[in-house]
Amino acid sequence: MLEIRDIWKSYENQPLLNGVSFQIQAGETVCLLGRSGSGKSTLLRIIAGLETAERGQVLWQGQDLSGVPVHLRHFGLMFQDYALFPHRNVAENVAFGLRMQGLSKAEIGLRVVDALEKVNLAGFAGRRVTDLSGGEQQRVALARALAPQPRLLMLDEPLGALDRALREQLGNELRRVLHSTGIPAIYVTHDQEEAFAIADRLVLLHEGRVEQEGQPAEIYNRPASTWVAHFLGLDNLVPAQALAGSPGLVQTPLGLLKPACLPPNGAFTLLLRPAGAYRQARGADWNRIQGRVEDSVFRGERFRVELRCAGDLTLRFDLEEPLPKGEPAELYLPPEAVLCLG
Ligand code: ADP
Ligand code: MG
Repeated sequence: MLEIRDIWKSYENQPLLNGVSFQIQAGETVCLLGRSGSGKSTLLRIIAGLETAERGQVLWQGQDLSGVPVHLRHFGLMFQDYALFPHRNVAENVAFGLRMQGLSKAEIGLRVVDALEKVNLAGFAGRRVTDLSGGEQQRVALARALAPQPRLLMLDEPLGALDRALREQLGNELRRVLHSTGIPAIYVTHDQEEAFAIADRLVLLHEGRVEQEGQPAEIYNRPASTWVAHFLGLDNLVPAQALAGSPGLVQTPLGLLKPACLPPNGAFTLLLRPAGAYRQARGADWNRIQGRVEDSVFRGERFRVELRCAGDLTLRFDLEEPLPKGEPAELYLPPEAVLCLG
């Protein structure tokens, strides 16, 4: 449906986007995830037509949109600071984009009712927006973006202004609304948890490029690089070196390890899965990790056990029971819990 093809953009000779490409399919919610300042909002503005790229194209069903002005792209936008009109009521706010389209009064009325129903605000039409909670205001903003029936919705950190508990609740609700309308959406955020909760597919932006894209579980299970692993909070990173003459085994400060992957030549990084550790080996090829217990912290289902290991490494594993602090410990990981990163 939407194709972003090789977009380049810089400000004052500072490169920001260095060849960004990705696609969005019908009905899909894609989360564009990256640190603050990584160019996410700029990319949305380019897609919307509010900003021009130095190179590259934005295509809708194969058609280049470069000559198409903002209002003829039929893309809906929703920003963090909802930008509702405080002196107008809910219905008037939702109707704003519709009046710009020159629709009849009757048609506008129907669309407003429909949009408010979609976001669970039926009956709120006459309320003053200033009397609503932050979460309700956010839903009014979503209704306003939906009312003109855009063919693509772009949401820029829409939950950014809300506190964590409300964000989770509204995040789930947003996901539901986006799926029920079937409108493809680009959802921008710097918050991994939010992105993982909402996305059908994730696009990770780093240093002006797409570092990795895929379904949330895919990316979590197979981070493509140390940067992605770090960004997702997967910090059990171990330097490694392929071992000549022993295919499948790699040299690390923890001793020889057997990952599930074919180790690349030269130096690389291993990622040890926190959830993959056990107190006993259950196979001859399981990896033994030795260290001294620094701490065991209760984390809901499991204990996060911090192990101080050779090579100045601190590794964290999830176990069903805590381990005695200050004591040496041995844990075992199957090869599947040892990943090779590029
Ligand atoms: P993000 O949304 O990922 O936080 P932005 O797209 O807002 O990132 O912007 C990234 C950087 O690009 C900003 O920190 C700023 O340095 C630069 N930038 C963005 N817009 C402009 C502009 N209009 N003029 C100059 N620099 C800009
Ligand atoms: Mg931004």
